[in-house]
Amino acid sequence: MIMNLEKLLTTPHKRFNPLLREWVLVSPQRTERPWQGQVERLQVAPLVTYDPNCYLCPGSKRARGNQTPKYAGTYTFDNDFSALLSEVEPMRYEQDGLLVAQSDQGICRVLCFSPRHDLTVPRMNAQELRGVVDAWTEQFSSLAQIPWVRYVQIFENRGELMGASNPHPHGQIWANATLPNLPAREDESLNAYHAEKHSCLLCDYLQLELQRNERIVCQNDAFVVLVPFWAVWPFETLVLSKRHFASIDQLNSDERELLGDILRRITIRYDNLFETAFPYSMGFHQRPTDRQLHEAWHLHAHYLPPLLRSATVRKFMVGYELLASPQRDITPESASSRLRETSETHYLDRSAS
Ligand SMILES: [Zn+2]
Ligand SMILES: [Zn+2]
Ligand SMILES: [Zn+2]
Repeated sequence: MIMNLEKLLTTPHKRFNPLLREWVLVSPQRTERPWQGQVERLQVAPLVTYDPNCYLCPGSKRARGNQTPKYAGTYTFDNDFSALLSEVEPMRYEQDGLLVAQSDQGICRVLCFSPRHDLTVPRMNAQELRGVVDAWTEQFSSLAQIPWVRYVQIFENRGELMGASNPHPHGQIWANATLPNLPAREDESLNAYHAEKHSCLLCDYLQLELQRNERIVCQNDAFVVLVPFWAVWPFETLVLSKRHFASIDQLNSDERELLGDILRRITIRYDNLFETAFPYSMGFHQRPTDRQLHEAWHLHAHYLPPLLRSATVRKFMVGYELLASPQRDITPESASSRLRETSETHYLDRSAS
């Protein structure tokens, strides 16, 4: 039997994620169940613009005697405790195909978005955001030029709930000699779709979403933010470029401006949703940097926020989700309408006016 969306929204079902080629269980009938689980402490945003004990603030001393300079815009440096090292010999360990390991070479960088300790992405102005996008682009381009680098992962962890150890606005950029798990799975899906249909999975998906207009949150001339049909996290979103290109270095100047604009707008909506500094992990997925063409790749960003129904109640991925499939109660359609109805004026600016 073919279901319409209305029927889907009242029936337990599973949805297919074509990027990872896996399923997520959706249980709309459960949204009214009472919450007796863990309640988090409310996150209080830092109020000081400069914290002498913060190692990312301009002019401070970092671990191992390194110094953070008195920077004005953005500042990038190699992580003092990198998870990967650039000077590792390629090696492989193997026993009967069951004990398999190999060395991995890499570079881990930290990117400070602003010298101001308290300034977060949703509260940056267009010029400050342009600086962040420019820094991401420069980092991607220069790391992609290193012959052994095959993938560059740009990401941000915001908030203690996501394990960010420092409230100073910053992100990270990791470059690897091999393709990490999720980009590798997306690479396979995008290539398979391209080979079969001679078009781009994400261009086709975006057209469908724009046509149906059921899960779109906001958009500008170059980017669309939507809650993907297959979202796992309660308020997960996908940022898609309207133009087809494979990596951030292919953005023109207007698009760099518009990328900053769309990231500011979605993060303001997030902060306003529960009037809190909304925690999330976000990151870009883009073409591998192995000097192949990668026509099937379409630049996008994922926002994966853990909050569920208030500033203090989060979603956990446990039990069935760790052992079987991810599962959600609130539907992607109702999450997107909540986000769509949320204001694009930051709640902290609203009270001031
Ligand atoms: Zn700081
Ligand atoms: Zn595309
Ligand atoms: Zn992706």
